[in-house]
This record gives sequence, C-alpha cells and structure tokens, in this order.
Amino acid sequence: MSTSTSGRGPSPRLRPLLDSVPAYVPGKPAASTGGPGWKLSSNESPYPPLPGVLEAVAAAAGRMHRYPDPHCTELTERLAEHLSVPSSHIALGTGSSGLLQQLLHISTDPGDDVVHAWRSFESYPIVTRLSGARPVEVPLTGDEAHDLDAMARAVTDRTRLVLVCTPNNPTGRALRRYALEPFLDRLPTDVMIVLDEAYAEFDNDPHRADGLELYRDRPNVVALRTFSKAYGLAGLRVGYAVAHEPVTDALRKVAVPFGVSTTAQSAAVASLDRRTELMERVGELVTERGRVHRALLEQGWTPPDSRANFVWLRLGRQTAAFAEHCLAAGATVRPYGQDGVRITIGERQANDAVLLAADRFRRRIPTAPPA
Ligand SMILES: *Cc1c(COP(=O)(O)O)cnc(C)c1O
Repeated sequence: MSTSTSGRGPSPRLRPLLDSVPAYVPGKPAASTGGPGWKLSSNESPYPPLPGVLEAVAAAAGRMHRYPDPHCTELTERLAEHLSVPSSHIALGTGSSGLLQQLLHISTDPGDDVVHAWRSFESYPIVTRLSGARPVEVPLTGDEAHDLDAMARAVTDRTRLVLVCTPNNPTGRALRRYALEPFLDRLPTDVMIVLDEAYAEFDNDPHRADGLELYRDRPNVVALRTFSKAYGLAGLRVGYAVAHEPVTDALRKVAVPFGVSTTAQSAAVASLDRRTELMERVGELVTERGRVHRALLEQGWTPPDSRANFVWLRLGRQTAAFAEHCLAAGATVRPYGQDGVRITIGERQANDAVLLAADRFRRRIPTAPPA
C-alpha cells in the first residue's frame, strides 16, 4: 500500500469557511534553555492537584473500561450544593471551551451575529466563525476594559449571543456589578448573554459582577465556569454552565455523549472537598499578582489592574521581541500579535525570572540564559 500523502484523487470537499478560520494558538511549552524553564503562557495553576485528588483520579481510572456517568450526577449535585443553585440549572462540559461550542450550537444559525469584546478570549471569533455566525468585535476601552456602551450599541436584531469575559483574558480587567447589571437589563431579553468567568475565583473585589447572582432573575444570562484554572484541573477537561432550564436542557442535548470522563468527574468532586486549601492557593497567587504588578509599575511599565491569575503588558510592535527576551531568560509568556503579552502568575521563582527579564528588557540589556 502506498504511504504517499497525495493518494488517489482529490481530498474530500471540506466546508469552505474553514479556510477563513484561524487555528487556535495554544500557549507555548516551557522554555528548554537548559535552565528551570517556566511555562507562563496558558494561565495554568502552578500547584499540583489538591490533596485527595490524585487518589480519587487513580480510583476512577480503574473504571476506564466503562463509559462515564453521562449525567455527571454526583458532580452536578455537589456543585448545586456548593453554588446554592438547583441541580437542573447546571450543565457540565469538557472544559468551558466545550461548553462554549455548545452555547454557539444552541443559540446561533449561520449568518447570525455574536458580539464580544476584542481583545478577549482567542476562542470567541474561532467558535463563532466555525458555527457559521459572524463575530462582531467591539474594541476594549483605552484602559483595557469592556466597552459596555459600545457593545450594547453593537447589538441588533441579528444578534443572538453576547460574550462577556470577566475578568477579561488577556487583559485581566474585570467588571463590577453596578456596571454590568444595567448592561444586562438594556439588552433584549431574547439575546443570550454568556458571562465567561474562567478566572472568577481570583477576583477578590467585593463589588465584582458575579454571574451566579446575575443569572438568577435573568433567564437569558449564562454563567460559564471551569475547573481548569484556579482548581488546577486543566488537563482533565471539565467546566460548567449555570443557567435556567431551557438553556441547560439545550446544552445537554448538543453535548458530546460521555464527554466528561469519570476521572474528570471524580477529580472535580474531590476538589470541591478542598475549598480551604483551594482558597489558600488562590490567596497566594493573588498576593503574587499584587507583587508582580507593583514591581512592573516600579520598573516603569503600565500594566492594567488584573483580577485574574495573569498580567497584561500592551507592547505593540515590541510584543514579539519581549516574548523572545523572556524565553531566553527561561520564561515562556504569551504574545498576541502586535498587541501585547500576557504573563501568567506562577510560582514565586518563575515570577522573579519574568520580572528580571522585564527589567532588563526596559534597560535594553540582553538576557543570558539561566545558569
Ligand atoms: C482558559 C479559558 C477558558 C476555557 O478553559 P477550559 O479549560 O476549556 O475550561 C474559557 N474562557 C476563558 C476566558 C479562558 O481563559
């Protein structure tokens, strides 16, 4: 048999729209400079699994010859208790990325509009275009926050979905309740509004907009959360949406059957048991975020106030050079075109490596690889 990739005849006909959709660019792996190599490019948790989670996963792995519970019964019940919402208001998915695809699937037809801020989560325009809908990108304000007035004006009768990322990836700016609430109430009630709260746990502002409160008397609002970031389960793929029943029922309908594995379900349940340890870790990262932010300000940078586990530097045309410079110092950060660089808050040593690299970059000192 021929192993040639050209094969016989043309390749099958694919949807032409695929040519217009960029591939998702994941954060690069840790630097391989011979030094420690810090991966600060994907907003992952620097901590190992919470106590008890590895044991729960090991036990669950022994059942891998069986399909998982398709209803995620135990996890749903535990989450319902944890969040004080009815279990019928929860839909589980393969990370919030999986749920995002499902949300597009249940809300948009080809040609419909999806309104979101830009820059925001890189997946938004991708999943929107893949569903045949049209992304309507509303530029952030000058201080890197959602421009809610402009977003409200961008909503027309073609709009079926509005995506609001708070805290915003990659800029870290978060919305406060007094700002978001009038926006939600201003939009038509038949337009779905998704509050992507992947970093909610890191937002320690008492005035923060909380999707779990805001969705309750608004049947068009969906709170989207994940175990990938603060909980440190990025590799297991589990997230959840909280919304009223018509939405969660529809989400279950379009889910990949048995998508959330038994190991993921067990790890999430075990993680919910470790609230105290989780909040300790979140507290440490928030302290580190403050330290990094202040140090960058002292160096002369102007990072916006971040409520997530990363900081943002708008570097314009210096974006790629800065990312290369950090890489040479052993830290992989996340460059975005000619916009800026997102730096995940990691362990203290990793943050120190980035701060040193940032300082040297400002002073134009070339960085030698770490010893
Ligand atoms: C990381 C991230 C997600 C998705 O993470 P999953 O691992 O798919 O749960 C969703 N939204 C934003 C804004 C993110 O940064």
